[in-house]
Amino acid sequence: MNSIEPSGRPQGRRRNIRPRKPDDIEIVETQPKKTGRTFPPIAPEDLPIDILAARLYNFNGDGETFSALCPGHADGKPSLAIRQLANGRILLHCHAGCKPEEVLSAINLDFSHLYPSGYALRNNKGNCKPPGQLAAYVPLDVAEPVINYHRFESLTATARRRAEGKHGKLAKQLGVDPEALVALGVGTLDYGNNWVFPEVDDQFRVVGACFRSRNGKKTFATGGKRGLTIAQDWPRQPTQMYIAEGATDTAALLSVGVNAIGRPAAMPSSLAIRWLIQLLRRDEHPYVIVLGDNDEPKNGVAVGPKAASDLADILGCELGQNIHWALPQPQFKDVRDQIAAGQWKARLVIKGASR
Ligand SMILES: [Zn+2]
Repeated sequence: MNSIEPSGRPQGRRRNIRPRKPDDIEIVETQPKKTGRTFPPIAPEDLPIDILAARLYNFNGDGETFSALCPGHADGKPSLAIRQLANGRILLHCHAGCKPEEVLSAINLDFSHLYPSGYALRNNKGNCKPPGQLAAYVPLDVAEPVINYHRFESLTATARRRAEGKHGKLAKQLGVDPEALVALGVGTLDYGNNWVFPEVDDQFRVVGACFRSRNGKKTFATGGKRGLTIAQDWPRQPTQMYIAEGATDTAALLSVGVNAIGRPAAMPSSLAIRWLIQLLRRDEHPYVIVLGDNDEPKNGVAVGPKAASDLADILGCELGQNIHWALPQPQFKDVRDQIAAGQWKARLVIKGASR
């Protein structure tokens, strides 16, 4: 009678190591011990669900919900419930009570493996255009920069202190709510001759400062990076998130009570786009709208609309989510113009979506 002992060492000659065809043998899958198991390599195009499928026993499912034997405890029936969200993210639940981190560490993974990489999304999702077809594909695998955060933190903190109670004038000039400027951390070092707008990364560290002179001219502090303009302690609307062009458009949107993140340029640097993606991925806004400016076409191309459309494509691809892009009403240069003119209620013109 043949039998396979799961823990038995192979007997006799080496060529007998492989088990024979299991015609009359009942193979009971048991969970391997945590140690000593080798795992299949993870390919760059693997989605989180592919990575899990290759490592879990009795893996079954229908594209959205899956089950498997839980590697976190001695599991005899599939107690691990797995759900794949539309953006490729995975939720895990062990019915026997293992924590997700226990489940993951038992198969040599961590939380990061539950989020799809941009590359995997680009290579898997039908809604994702392959890199070559993206209108403007930007490589997002850029190195984390070396920034003297402390320098920019202290510069912008000093400016904020000096600006206390003085935001009214700038707010009036811009046609925005002074509280929105306060929430964005706007300050001044010279009693309102120049205004300092902090720019941050996805962890809200100040990575740079943009100076805006009385006549609207912008300069940028050396040694920093262009980052995102984000309101701290501002009531958030759970549904929509506008990605505005520049800090003052962001302030205008906050003034009318909607969520907004400012990007530093129509088409920001790879680094700023990556911070934006990481931020949006964490917050999971169901409806993201990239706003462009109504630029005059130069050589047949209107830069603002094209950049907004391209950025929506990139975000849609990276987030596995449909991202819209929109413009202000045609008579306004940008969304701040429209809001300052009291025309927010005239709505934006939704021009397109990433899929
Ligand atoms: Zn478990």
